[in-house]
Amino acid sequence: MKLLMVGAGLSGAVIGRAMAEAGHQVTVVDSRPHIGGNCHTERDADTGVMVHVYGPHIFHTDDAEVWDYVNQYETFLPYKNRVKTTSGGQVFALPVNLHTINQFYGKTMRPDEARIFLEEQADTSITDPQTFEEQALRFVGPDLYEAFFKGYTQKQWGCSPRDLPASILKRLPVRFNYDDNYFFHRFQGMPENGYTAMIERILDHPGITVHLSQRFERAQAADYDHVFYAGPLDGWFDFDLGRLGYRTLDFERFSYQGDYQGCAVMNYGEVDVPYTRITEHKHFSPWESHEGSVCYREFSRACEPDDIPYYPIRMVAEKELLGAYVAQANTQKGVTFVGRLGTYRYLDMDVTIREALETAKVFLAHEKAGTAMPAFVVSPL
Ligand code: UDP
Repeated sequence: MKLLMVGAGLSGAVIGRAMAEAGHQVTVVDSRPHIGGNCHTERDADTGVMVHVYGPHIFHTDDAEVWDYVNQYETFLPYKNRVKTTSGGQVFALPVNLHTINQFYGKTMRPDEARIFLEEQADTSITDPQTFEEQALRFVGPDLYEAFFKGYTQKQWGCSPRDLPASILKRLPVRFNYDDNYFFHRFQGMPENGYTAMIERILDHPGITVHLSQRFERAQAADYDHVFYAGPLDGWFDFDLGRLGYRTLDFERFSYQGDYQGCAVMNYGEVDVPYTRITEHKHFSPWESHEGSVCYREFSRACEPDDIPYYPIRMVAEKELLGAYVAQANTQKGVTFVGRLGTYRYLDMDVTIREALETAKVFLAHEKAGTAMPAFVVSPL
């Protein structure tokens, strides 16, 4: 079969590879001049630092099959994400752990004492937290919420944490020990030569042809037996029902001679600092050494039509519009919507790969059975 992958990011590459290995003829198109989507990495010409061009991407997973998959294409070197945050004139460790709690309150509590102490700060009248704010007040209480989460979240999402779902905060743990690893997953690492090198190898198969700087037009779909579309779901329909809301990011890139901040990610918890965080890219490759440094000051704002969409907003209004697009998508034939943009979800890289592998399996099973491939393997709703 002749298959088209729209988007040369993780979804397009992983599905494309599986299809090529199954003997199909795969074309991958991307409107950007590079593969890798938002995971794209590139060495800075002046300093030699590997830059996460579209912001920090740290690979972490509990999925052994996905971990084996990525290690097949690239060497992953040990990397632990240890995030710091600046608030109230001090630097603290995230996620909130025993060190953060003791430093914040000027105490020397042991785990059980800190647990009881924090429970006293927490608003226990909230039994079933619905919003981000309720979730924070229930689990860490008002002081830590105000210092670390309220301002940051306001800047990141452009609205009050009262209007955001609790699920966003559930991404972050609270620890009653000194473990300051941001993620709890079994496997964590960074690709030695960057994500783009890994994706290049995934795409390196005689059955795959890649065309970059090529904007996809829906009319092209007619030349293929099936399309895997990793572009924005509303874009497939020319935004005819309206635009699904996203946050976009602006990166103010600057160079520094030496070590600018001593860590890869420094968050800024206060609302009056206009950026959410500063990333210093050389710290994402701790096995390398560079004199010069490349940093990004990261600003979040509403995504306009010509901006790059990053974070799907998924509040009540967006969910309604999403429902309407999903209903339209389900009437389409010959296309499957995949990935972060195609299914309008906040996806980690490992989940994206897992879903891409599943999508490929489902497609091959339908092909064998002679049945129709659905528009979604994973529902966006
Ligand atoms: N968050 C926060 N303060 C921080 C870091 C995160 O309030 O210092 C909140 C914020 O709302 C963010 C969410 O927790 O959107 C998830 O954070 P994560 O670090 O997973 O975000 P990502 O790195 O994916 O942007």
